[in-house]
Amino acid sequence: MNFGFDLDKIFIDYPPFIPARLIDRLYKQKSDGVLWYRIPSKPERFLRLITHYPLFRPPIFENIRFMQQISRDKKHKHYLISSRFSFLRATTETLLKKYGLYSLFKDAFFNYKDKQPHLFKAAIIEKLNIHRYVDDDLPLLQFIAARNPKTKFFWLNSEKNEAFGKNLFSITHLSQMFL
Ligand SMILES: [Mg+2]
Repeated sequence: MNFGFDLDKIFIDYPPFIPARLIDRLYKQKSDGVLWYRIPSKPERFLRLITHYPLFRPPIFENIRFMQQISRDKKHKHYLISSRFSFLRATTETLLKKYGLYSLFKDAFFNYKDKQPHLFKAAIIEKLNIHRYVDDDLPLLQFIAARNPKTKFFWLNSEKNEAFGKNLFSITHLSQMFL
């Protein structure tokens, strides 16, 4: 099977001391029920670049270790699919090298052409024929899951384990997407 993984909040955490809600608000915009993400203006990019400085993006070791174990048996193909924009390219590559993340995936895809994150991920998931995909962004998962009934989608969060629909599940640990 082909497995897809998001990067931020799955393997790399948000900066400590800054509420996650604030970070999410910088990125997400929902008007008239349509999912839309803001692509930052130049001054804002500077601010966001600072919050992406590797020092402020601690790795989620539990999940990285889990991937190290699971990629050893080579049973499935694992892909990293991140919607990080082009202005984060250098810091993203530094981060991935620093924590040895490239070696855990068959390939890694980034939104360096600055498309809308949900449209970018939907396109990659279809192109790679991903069977199971995990992300921390629930509105994004709901959008893609509704259009890809054959793929199973997993929302990684800290509280709930439940089914949201036929192909959308809430999980509290990465291992649950392999069951
Ligand atoms: Mg994320």
